[in-house]
Amino acid sequence: MNHILVRTVVVLAWLVLPAGIVYLSVGADAGWAVFVAGLLLLLGYHARNLGRLLEWLKRPDPDTVPGTIGIWDDAFAYLHRRERRHRQKRKRLRRLVLRYGQAGRALPDGVVVLDAQDRIEWCNEKAERRFGIDAQTDVGQPITNLVRQPEFVDYIVAGDYSGPVRLRTSRESGLTLSVQIIPYHGSQKLLLARDVTQAERLEAVRRDFVANVSHELRTPLTVLVGFLETVRELQLDPDRVRSYLGMMADQANRMQRIIDDLLTLSALESAPEPPRDERIDVHQLIERLRSDAEALSAGQHRICLEVQGDFDLLGVESEIAGALSNLVTNAIRYTPAGGEIRLLWRAAADGAAFSVVDTGVGIEPEHIPRVTERFYRVDRGRSRQTGGTGLGLAIVRHALLRHQASLDIESEPGKGSRFTARFPGSRVVARQTSIHISA
Ligand code: ADP
Repeated sequence: MNHILVRTVVVLAWLVLPAGIVYLSVGADAGWAVFVAGLLLLLGYHARNLGRLLEWLKRPDPDTVPGTIGIWDDAFAYLHRRERRHRQKRKRLRRLVLRYGQAGRALPDGVVVLDAQDRIEWCNEKAERRFGIDAQTDVGQPITNLVRQPEFVDYIVAGDYSGPVRLRTSRESGLTLSVQIIPYHGSQKLLLARDVTQAERLEAVRRDFVANVSHELRTPLTVLVGFLETVRELQLDPDRVRSYLGMMADQANRMQRIIDDLLTLSALESAPEPPRDERIDVHQLIERLRSDAEALSAGQHRICLEVQGDFDLLGVESEIAGALSNLVTNAIRYTPAGGEIRLLWRAAADGAAFSVVDTGVGIEPEHIPRVTERFYRVDRGRSRQTGGTGLGLAIVRHALLRHQASLDIESEPGKGSRFTARFPGSRVVARQTSIHISA
Protein backbone atom coordinates (compact mmCIF):
# COMPACT_ATOMS: atom_id res chain seq x y z
CA MET A 1 0.00 0.00 0.00
CA ASN A 2 2.80 2.37 0.98
CA HIS A 3 4.54 1.42 -2.19
CA ILE A 4 1.50 2.47 -4.26
CA LEU A 5 1.20 5.74 -2.31
CA VAL A 6 4.86 6.60 -2.94
CA ARG A 7 4.50 5.83 -6.66
CA THR A 8 1.33 7.97 -6.88
CA VAL A 9 3.13 10.85 -5.19
CA VAL A 10 6.07 10.47 -7.60
CA VAL A 11 3.71 10.48 -10.62
CA LEU A 12 1.92 13.57 -9.29
CA ALA A 13 5.31 15.21 -8.65
CA TRP A 14 6.20 14.57 -12.31
CA LEU A 15 2.97 16.34 -13.27
CA VAL A 16 3.37 19.23 -10.87
CA LEU A 17 7.07 19.84 -11.62
CA PRO A 18 6.81 20.74 -15.37
CA ALA A 19 3.52 22.56 -14.71
CA GLY A 20 5.22 24.57 -11.96
CA ILE A 21 8.18 25.46 -14.18
CA VAL A 22 5.82 26.61 -16.97
CA TYR A 23 3.70 28.44 -14.37
CA LEU A 24 6.74 30.37 -13.17
CA SER A 25 8.39 30.93 -16.51
CA VAL A 26 5.47 31.47 -18.93
CA GLY A 27 2.50 32.29 -16.74
CA ALA A 28 -0.31 30.87 -14.63
CA ASP A 29 -2.58 29.87 -17.53
CA ALA A 30 0.13 27.97 -19.33
CA GLY A 31 1.14 26.27 -16.06
CA TRP A 32 -2.45 25.10 -15.40
CA ALA A 33 -2.79 23.99 -18.99
CA VAL A 34 0.31 21.81 -18.68
CA PHE A 35 -1.00 20.41 -15.38
CA VAL A 36 -4.44 19.58 -16.84
CA ALA A 37 -2.83 18.02 -19.94
CA GLY A 38 -0.67 15.85 -17.67
CA LEU A 39 -3.72 14.83 -15.65
CA LEU A 40 -5.58 13.91 -18.84
CA LEU A 41 -2.63 11.81 -20.01
CA LEU A 42 -2.57 10.02 -16.64
CA LEU A 43 -6.32 9.42 -16.82
CA GLY A 44 -5.95 8.03 -20.35
CA TYR A 45 -3.19 5.70 -19.19
CA HIS A 46 -5.34 4.35 -16.34
CA ALA A 47 -8.48 4.10 -18.50
CA ARG A 48 -6.62 2.22 -21.22
CA ASN A 49 -5.05 -0.26 -18.80
CA LEU A 50 -8.35 -0.75 -16.97
CA GLY A 51 -9.90 -1.61 -20.32
CA ARG A 52 -7.09 -4.11 -21.06
CA LEU A 53 -7.55 -5.65 -17.61
CA LEU A 54 -11.32 -6.06 -18.11
CA GLU A 55 -10.70 -7.54 -21.55
CA TRP A 56 -8.10 -9.99 -20.17
CA LEU A 57 -10.34 -11.03 -17.25
CA LYS A 58 -12.91 -12.34 -19.74
CA ARG A 59 -10.39 -15.00 -20.81
CA PRO A 60 -7.63 -15.12 -18.19
CA ASP A 61 -4.60 -16.75 -19.75
CA PRO A 62 -1.18 -16.25 -18.13
CA ASP A 63 0.41 -16.08 -21.61
CA THR A 64 -1.73 -13.15 -22.75
CA VAL A 65 -1.43 -10.90 -19.68
CA PRO A 66 -1.05 -7.34 -21.15
CA GLY A 67 2.35 -5.72 -20.80
CA THR A 68 2.65 -2.01 -19.94
CA ILE A 69 4.62 0.44 -17.82
CA GLY A 70 4.25 1.89 -14.36
CA ILE A 71 1.99 0.70 -11.60
CA TRP A 72 -0.18 -1.29 -14.01
CA ASP A 73 2.85 -3.28 -15.10
CA ASP A 74 3.29 -4.43 -11.49
CA ALA A 75 -0.40 -5.30 -11.30
CA PHE A 76 -0.27 -7.27 -14.54
CA ALA A 77 2.94 -9.06 -13.48
CA TYR A 78 1.21 -10.05 -10.23
CA LEU A 79 -1.82 -11.32 -12.16
CA HIS A 80 0.46 -13.23 -14.51
CA ARG A 81 2.18 -15.01 -11.60
CA ARG A 82 -1.10 -15.75 -9.81
CA GLU A 83 -2.75 -17.11 -12.93
CA ARG A 84 0.26 -19.29 -13.67
CA ARG A 85 0.17 -20.72 -10.13
CA HIS A 86 -3.58 -21.39 -10.49
CA ARG A 87 -3.06 -23.09 -13.78
CA GLN A 88 -0.39 -25.40 -12.35
CA LYS A 89 -2.61 -26.18 -9.36
CA ARG A 90 -5.57 -26.94 -11.64
CA LYS A 91 -3.36 -29.13 -13.81
CA ARG A 92 -2.12 -31.02 -10.74
CA LEU A 93 -5.69 -31.48 -9.49
CA ARG A 94 -6.89 -32.63 -12.92
CA ARG A 95 -4.02 -35.14 -13.07
CA LEU A 96 -4.86 -36.34 -9.55
CA VAL A 97 -8.55 -36.78 -10.40
CA LEU A 98 -7.56 -38.58 -13.60
CA ARG A 99 -5.22 -40.90 -11.69
CA TYR A 100 -7.88 -41.68 -9.06
CA GLY A 101 -10.33 -42.33 -11.88
CA GLN A 102 -7.84 -44.69 -13.53
CA ALA A 103 -7.16 -46.44 -10.20
CA GLY A 104 -10.92 -46.81 -9.68
CA ARG A 105 -11.31 -48.27 -13.16
CA ALA A 106 -8.39 -50.68 -12.64
CA LEU A 107 -9.92 -52.10 -9.44
CA PRO A 108 -10.99 -55.73 -9.78
CA ASP A 109 -14.20 -54.89 -7.91
CA GLY A 110 -17.15 -52.92 -9.18
CA VAL A 111 -17.21 -49.50 -7.46
CA VAL A 112 -20.15 -47.08 -7.31
CA VAL A 113 -20.06 -43.76 -5.44
CA LEU A 114 -23.50 -42.89 -4.04
CA ASP A 115 -24.76 -39.64 -2.54
CA ALA A 116 -26.79 -39.31 0.66
CA GLN A 117 -29.99 -40.26 -1.24
CA ASP A 118 -28.35 -43.38 -2.76
CA ARG A 119 -28.09 -41.71 -6.18
CA ILE A 120 -25.21 -42.66 -8.47
CA GLU A 121 -22.42 -40.09 -8.62
CA TRP A 122 -19.72 -42.17 -10.29
CA CYS A 123 -19.01 -45.80 -11.13
CA ASN A 124 -16.21 -47.78 -12.74
CA GLU A 125 -16.45 -50.05 -15.79
CA LYS A 126 -16.68 -53.24 -13.71
CA ALA A 127 -19.78 -51.83 -11.97
CA GLU A 128 -21.20 -50.79 -15.35
CA ARG A 129 -20.86 -54.35 -16.62
CA ARG A 130 -21.98 -56.09 -13.44
CA PHE A 131 -25.07 -53.94 -12.82
CA GLY A 132 -25.81 -52.69 -16.32
CA ILE A 133 -25.23 -49.06 -15.30
CA ASP A 134 -24.27 -46.40 -17.85
CA ALA A 135 -21.62 -44.20 -16.22
CA GLN A 136 -22.69 -41.19 -18.35
CA THR A 137 -26.47 -41.29 -18.51
CA ASP A 138 -27.29 -42.94 -15.17
CA VAL A 139 -25.56 -40.35 -12.97
CA GLY A 140 -28.16 -39.00 -10.53
CA GLN A 141 -30.36 -42.12 -10.74
CA PRO A 142 -31.16 -43.93 -7.46
CA ILE A 143 -29.13 -47.17 -7.42
CA THR A 144 -32.26 -49.19 -6.56
CA ASN A 145 -33.77 -48.16 -9.93
CA LEU A 146 -30.98 -50.10 -11.65
CA VAL A 147 -30.16 -52.87 -9.18
CA ARG A 148 -33.60 -54.21 -8.40
CA GLN A 149 -32.93 -57.56 -6.73
CA PRO A 150 -35.14 -57.69 -3.60
CA GLU A 151 -32.17 -58.71 -1.40
CA PHE A 152 -30.30 -55.58 -2.49
CA VAL A 153 -33.29 -53.26 -2.05
CA ASP A 154 -33.88 -54.71 1.46
CA TYR A 155 -30.18 -54.21 2.26
CA ILE A 156 -30.35 -50.54 1.24
CA VAL A 157 -33.64 -49.93 3.04
CA ALA A 158 -32.43 -51.61 6.26
CA GLY A 159 -29.31 -49.43 6.22
CA ASP A 160 -27.25 -51.97 8.19
CA TYR A 161 -24.01 -52.07 6.23
CA SER A 162 -21.96 -54.06 8.77
CA GLY A 163 -21.73 -57.02 6.33
CA PRO A 164 -22.09 -57.73 2.62
CA VAL A 165 -25.12 -59.06 0.75
CA ARG A 166 -24.86 -61.82 -1.88
CA LEU A 167 -26.51 -61.20 -5.24
CA ARG A 168 -26.85 -63.44 -8.25
CA THR A 169 -26.87 -61.61 -11.55
CA SER A 170 -27.75 -62.91 -14.97
CA ARG A 171 -25.01 -60.75 -16.47
CA GLU A 172 -21.62 -62.06 -17.64
CA SER A 173 -22.99 -65.63 -17.76
CA GLY A 174 -24.33 -65.76 -14.23
CA LEU A 175 -22.18 -64.09 -11.60
CA THR A 176 -22.44 -64.25 -7.84
CA LEU A 177 -21.51 -60.89 -6.31
CA SER A 178 -20.70 -59.99 -2.75
CA VAL A 179 -21.96 -56.40 -2.44
CA GLN A 180 -20.98 -54.20 0.48
CA ILE A 181 -21.79 -50.56 1.17
CA ILE A 182 -19.17 -48.52 2.99
CA PRO A 183 -20.38 -45.18 4.36
CA TYR A 184 -17.77 -42.39 4.32
CA HIS A 185 -17.51 -38.64 4.74
CA GLY A 186 -20.81 -38.28 6.61
CA SER A 187 -23.58 -39.41 4.31
CA GLN A 188 -21.60 -40.43 1.17
CA LYS A 189 -21.47 -44.17 0.35
CA LEU A 190 -19.15 -46.40 -1.55
CA LEU A 191 -20.65 -49.57 -3.03
CA LEU A 192 -18.17 -52.39 -3.66
CA ALA A 193 -19.22 -55.42 -5.73
CA ARG A 194 -16.78 -58.34 -5.57
CA ASP A 195 -17.09 -61.31 -7.95
CA VAL A 196 -17.24 -64.41 -5.71
CA THR A 197 -18.47 -66.82 -8.41
CA GLN A 198 -15.21 -68.78 -8.47
CA ALA A 199 -14.92 -68.88 -4.67
CA GLU A 200 -18.52 -70.09 -4.44
CA ARG A 201 -17.88 -72.76 -7.08
CA LEU A 202 -14.76 -73.92 -5.20
CA GLU A 203 -16.74 -74.04 -1.98
CA ALA A 204 -19.40 -76.20 -3.70
CA VAL A 205 -16.66 -78.50 -5.10
CA ARG A 206 -15.15 -78.79 -1.61
CA ARG A 207 -18.54 -79.61 -0.10
CA ASP A 208 -19.26 -82.23 -2.80
CA PHE A 209 -15.80 -83.67 -2.34
CA VAL A 210 -16.20 -84.08 1.42
CA ALA A 211 -19.64 -85.64 0.88
CA ASN A 212 -18.21 -88.00 -1.79
CA VAL A 213 -15.25 -89.08 0.34
CA SER A 214 -17.54 -89.74 3.29
CA HIS A 215 -19.89 -91.75 1.11
CA GLU A 216 -17.08 -93.75 -0.55
CA LEU A 217 -15.53 -94.67 2.79
CA ARG A 218 -18.81 -95.26 4.59
CA THR A 219 -19.92 -98.02 2.20
CA PRO A 220 -17.00 -100.42 2.84
CA LEU A 221 -16.93 -99.38 6.51
CA THR A 222 -20.60 -100.34 6.94
CA VAL A 223 -19.94 -103.74 5.35
CA LEU A 224 -16.87 -104.21 7.54
CA VAL A 225 -18.77 -103.34 10.74
CA GLY A 226 -21.61 -105.68 9.69
CA PHE A 227 -19.23 -108.62 9.26
CA LEU A 228 -17.46 -107.79 12.54
CA GLU A 229 -20.75 -107.86 14.44
CA THR A 230 -21.81 -111.09 12.76
CA VAL A 231 -18.51 -112.78 13.64
CA ARG A 232 -18.70 -111.48 17.22
CA GLU A 233 -22.38 -112.24 17.88
CA LEU A 234 -22.85 -115.58 16.13
CA GLN A 235 -21.26 -118.95 16.73
CA LEU A 236 -19.88 -119.62 13.23
CA ASP A 237 -17.85 -122.52 11.98
CA PRO A 238 -14.19 -121.73 11.20
CA ASP A 239 -14.70 -121.94 7.39
CA ARG A 240 -17.46 -119.34 7.50
CA VAL A 241 -15.33 -117.11 9.73
CA ARG A 242 -12.41 -117.43 7.32
CA SER A 243 -14.64 -116.48 4.38
CA TYR A 244 -16.02 -113.46 6.32
CA LEU A 245 -12.50 -112.40 7.22
CA GLY A 246 -11.57 -112.56 3.53
CA MET A 247 -14.50 -110.30 2.62
CA MET A 248 -13.56 -107.94 5.44
CA ALA A 249 -10.02 -107.77 4.12
CA ASP A 250 -11.42 -106.86 0.66
CA GLN A 251 -13.35 -103.93 2.15
CA ALA A 252 -10.35 -102.80 4.18
CA ASN A 253 -8.18 -102.94 1.03
CA ARG A 254 -10.77 -100.91 -0.82
CA MET A 255 -10.66 -98.23 1.88
CA GLN A 256 -6.88 -98.33 1.78
CA ARG A 257 -6.87 -97.80 -2.02
CA ILE A 258 -9.25 -94.83 -1.72
CA ILE A 259 -7.08 -93.25 0.97
CA ASP A 260 -3.89 -93.89 -1.04
CA ASP A 261 -5.42 -92.23 -4.11
CA LEU A 262 -6.65 -89.28 -2.05
CA LEU A 263 -3.17 -88.83 -0.62
CA THR A 264 -1.67 -89.01 -4.13
CA LEU A 265 -4.09 -86.32 -5.31
CA SER A 266 -3.37 -84.10 -2.36
CA ALA A 267 0.40 -84.56 -2.81
CA LEU A 268 0.04 -83.57 -6.49
CA GLU A 269 -1.90 -80.47 -5.50
CA SER A 270 0.66 -79.26 -3.01
CA ALA A 271 3.87 -80.34 -4.79
CA PRO A 272 6.17 -77.66 -6.28
CA GLU A 273 6.35 -77.15 -10.06
CA PRO A 274 7.99 -80.20 -11.71
CA PRO A 275 11.63 -79.52 -12.64
CA ARG A 276 12.63 -79.05 -16.28
CA ASP A 277 16.05 -80.58 -15.93
CA GLU A 278 15.16 -84.09 -14.80
CA ARG A 279 15.02 -86.54 -17.66
CA ILE A 280 12.50 -89.38 -17.76
CA ASP A 281 13.60 -92.30 -19.92
CA VAL A 282 10.28 -92.84 -21.70
CA HIS A 283 11.39 -95.98 -23.63
CA GLN A 284 12.31 -97.70 -20.38
CA LEU A 285 9.09 -96.47 -18.74
CA ILE A 286 6.94 -97.84 -21.58
CA GLU A 287 8.70 -101.21 -21.35
CA ARG A 288 7.85 -101.27 -17.64
CA LEU A 289 4.25 -100.33 -18.36
CA ARG A 290 4.02 -103.17 -20.86
CA SER A 291 5.31 -105.81 -18.43
CA ASP A 292 3.00 -104.51 -15.66
CA ALA A 293 0.09 -104.64 -18.11
CA GLU A 294 0.93 -108.20 -19.09
CA ALA A 295 1.06 -109.21 -15.43
CA LEU A 296 -2.31 -107.57 -14.76
CA SER A 297 -3.94 -108.98 -17.88
CA ALA A 298 -2.63 -112.48 -17.12
CA GLY A 299 -2.66 -113.37 -20.80
CA GLN A 300 -6.26 -112.25 -21.40
CA HIS A 301 -5.36 -109.38 -23.77
CA ARG A 302 -3.00 -108.78 -26.65
CA ILE A 303 -0.67 -105.95 -25.67
CA CYS A 304 1.31 -104.13 -28.40
CA LEU A 305 3.95 -101.42 -28.24
CA GLU A 306 4.50 -98.81 -30.98
CA VAL A 307 7.38 -96.52 -30.05
CA GLN A 308 8.25 -94.07 -32.81
CA GLY A 309 9.46 -91.07 -30.86
CA ASP A 310 13.19 -90.92 -30.26
CA PHE A 311 12.83 -88.54 -27.34
CA ASP A 312 12.36 -88.38 -23.58
CA LEU A 313 10.38 -86.22 -21.18
CA LEU A 314 11.42 -83.66 -18.57
CA GLY A 315 9.63 -83.79 -15.23
CA VAL A 316 8.90 -85.96 -12.21
CA GLU A 317 9.23 -89.62 -13.18
CA SER A 318 6.98 -90.97 -10.41
CA GLU A 319 4.13 -88.63 -11.41
CA ILE A 320 4.33 -89.38 -15.14
CA ALA A 321 4.77 -93.11 -14.50
CA GLY A 322 1.75 -93.09 -12.15
CA ALA A 323 -0.41 -91.22 -14.69
CA LEU A 324 0.47 -93.40 -17.70
CA SER A 325 0.17 -96.55 -15.59
CA ASN A 326 -3.38 -95.50 -14.60
CA LEU A 327 -4.30 -95.20 -18.30
CA VAL A 328 -2.89 -98.66 -19.07
CA THR A 329 -4.56 -100.25 -16.02
CA ASN A 330 -7.91 -98.72 -17.00
CA ALA A 331 -7.54 -100.06 -20.55
CA ILE A 332 -7.14 -103.59 -19.16
CA ARG A 333 -9.95 -103.20 -16.60
CA TYR A 334 -12.43 -101.89 -19.17
CA THR A 335 -11.50 -104.26 -22.02
CA PRO A 336 -13.07 -107.71 -21.99
CA ALA A 337 -10.81 -110.74 -22.34
CA GLY A 338 -9.60 -111.28 -25.90
CA GLY A 339 -9.32 -107.53 -26.58
CA GLU A 340 -6.27 -105.60 -27.70
CA ILE A 341 -4.38 -102.79 -26.00
CA ARG A 342 -1.82 -100.67 -27.85
CA LEU A 343 0.68 -98.31 -26.23
CA LEU A 344 1.90 -95.58 -28.62
CA TRP A 345 4.70 -93.04 -28.14
CA ARG A 346 5.20 -90.62 -31.00
CA ALA A 347 5.85 -87.04 -32.05
CA ALA A 348 2.83 -84.74 -32.07
CA ALA A 349 2.18 -81.12 -33.00
CA ASP A 350 4.79 -79.14 -31.02
CA GLY A 351 5.70 -81.97 -28.65
CA ALA A 352 4.99 -85.64 -28.11
CA ALA A 353 2.03 -87.85 -27.27
CA PHE A 354 1.54 -91.09 -25.37
CA SER A 355 -1.67 -92.96 -26.26
CA VAL A 356 -3.35 -96.03 -24.86
CA VAL A 357 -5.77 -97.51 -27.36
CA ASP A 358 -8.11 -100.31 -26.31
CA THR A 359 -10.90 -102.31 -27.87
CA GLY A 360 -12.94 -102.22 -24.65
CA VAL A 361 -16.39 -101.15 -23.54
CA GLY A 362 -15.95 -97.50 -24.57
CA ILE A 363 -17.64 -94.45 -23.04
CA GLU A 364 -20.89 -92.75 -24.06
CA PRO A 365 -20.18 -89.20 -25.39
CA GLU A 366 -22.10 -87.47 -22.57
CA HIS A 367 -19.83 -89.03 -19.93
CA ILE A 368 -16.51 -88.18 -21.63
CA PRO A 369 -16.18 -84.58 -20.31
CA ARG A 370 -16.84 -85.80 -16.74
CA VAL A 371 -14.71 -88.94 -16.37
CA THR A 372 -11.73 -86.97 -15.02
CA GLU A 373 -13.85 -85.58 -12.14
CA ARG A 374 -13.14 -87.11 -8.75
CA PHE A 375 -15.31 -90.16 -8.02
CA TYR A 376 -17.10 -89.93 -11.37
CA ARG A 377 -17.76 -93.38 -12.82
CA VAL A 378 -19.77 -94.38 -15.86
CA ASP A 379 -20.54 -97.82 -14.52
CA ARG A 380 -20.24 -97.91 -10.73
CA GLY A 381 -20.57 -101.70 -10.52
CA ARG A 382 -17.84 -102.41 -13.07
CA SER A 383 -15.49 -99.87 -11.51
CA ARG A 384 -15.93 -101.42 -8.06
CA GLN A 385 -15.67 -104.97 -9.35
CA THR A 386 -12.28 -104.22 -10.89
CA GLY A 387 -11.01 -102.43 -7.78
CA GLY A 388 -11.54 -98.86 -9.02
CA THR A 389 -11.65 -95.87 -6.71
CA GLY A 390 -13.05 -93.36 -9.19
CA LEU A 391 -9.94 -91.23 -8.67
CA GLY A 392 -7.60 -92.70 -11.32
CA LEU A 393 -8.32 -90.24 -14.15
CA ALA A 394 -8.44 -87.28 -11.73
CA ILE A 395 -4.87 -88.21 -10.73
CA VAL A 396 -3.87 -88.54 -14.41
CA ARG A 397 -5.29 -85.12 -15.28
CA HIS A 398 -3.59 -83.46 -12.32
CA ALA A 399 -0.19 -85.04 -12.94
CA LEU A 400 -0.36 -84.07 -16.64
CA LEU A 401 -1.53 -80.53 -15.94
CA ARG A 402 1.46 -80.05 -13.66
CA HIS A 403 3.66 -80.90 -16.65
CA GLN A 404 1.68 -78.51 -18.92
CA ALA A 405 0.32 -81.61 -20.67
CA SER A 406 -3.31 -82.39 -21.51
CA LEU A 407 -5.46 -85.50 -21.72
CA ASP A 408 -7.56 -86.18 -24.84
CA ILE A 409 -10.26 -88.84 -24.72
CA GLU A 410 -11.83 -90.36 -27.82
CA SER A 411 -14.21 -93.24 -27.35
CA GLU A 412 -16.98 -95.18 -28.99
CA PRO A 413 -19.28 -97.33 -26.86
CA GLY A 414 -18.80 -101.00 -27.62
CA LYS A 415 -15.73 -100.36 -29.81
CA GLY A 416 -13.05 -98.96 -27.55
CA SER A 417 -11.24 -95.85 -26.34
CA ARG A 418 -8.10 -93.85 -26.99
CA PHE A 419 -6.62 -91.88 -24.09
CA THR A 420 -3.84 -89.53 -25.24
CA ALA A 421 -1.47 -87.59 -22.98
CA ARG A 422 -0.10 -84.64 -25.02
CA PHE A 423 3.18 -83.14 -23.83
CA PRO A 424 4.32 -79.67 -25.00
CA GLY A 425 7.69 -79.17 -26.74
CA SER A 426 9.10 -77.55 -23.58
CA ARG A 427 8.81 -80.93 -21.78
CA VAL A 428 10.29 -83.07 -24.61
CA VAL A 429 14.02 -83.67 -25.30
CA ALA A 430 15.93 -85.81 -27.77
CA ARG A 431 17.04 -89.17 -26.36
CA GLN A 432 20.63 -89.47 -25.19
CA THR A 433 22.39 -92.05 -27.34
CA SER A 434 24.07 -94.66 -25.17
CA ILE A 435 27.50 -95.76 -26.36
CA HIS A 436 28.50 -99.41 -25.87
CA ILE A 437 32.20 -100.03 -25.66
CA SER A 438 32.88 -103.70 -26.06
CA ALA A 439 35.99 -105.03 -24.40
P1 ADP B 1 -12.21 -95.93 -11.82
O1 ADP B 1 -11.42 -96.23 -10.65
O2 ADP B 1 -13.69 -96.02 -11.61
O3 ADP B 1 -11.75 -96.67 -13.05
P2 ADP B 1 -11.16 -93.63 -13.15
O4 ADP B 1 -11.05 -92.22 -12.70
O5 ADP B 1 -9.92 -94.33 -13.53
O6 ADP B 1 -11.98 -94.39 -12.06
O7 ADP B 1 -12.11 -93.64 -14.41
C1 ADP B 1 -13.35 -92.97 -14.35
C2 ADP B 1 -14.36 -93.67 -15.21
O8 ADP B 1 -14.00 -93.54 -16.58
C3 ADP B 1 -14.42 -95.15 -14.97
O9 ADP B 1 -15.31 -95.45 -13.90
C4 ADP B 1 -14.91 -95.69 -16.28
O10 ADP B 1 -16.30 -95.62 -16.34
C5 ADP B 1 -14.36 -94.71 -17.29
N1 ADP B 1 -13.14 -95.22 -17.97
C6 ADP B 1 -11.86 -94.97 -17.65
N2 ADP B 1 -11.02 -95.59 -18.50
C7 ADP B 1 -11.78 -96.25 -19.37
C8 ADP B 1 -11.52 -97.08 -20.51
N3 ADP B 1 -10.25 -97.35 -20.92
N4 ADP B 1 -12.57 -97.60 -21.18
C9 ADP B 1 -13.81 -97.33 -20.79
N5 ADP B 1 -14.15 -96.57 -19.74
C10 ADP B 1 -13.15 -96.02 -19.04
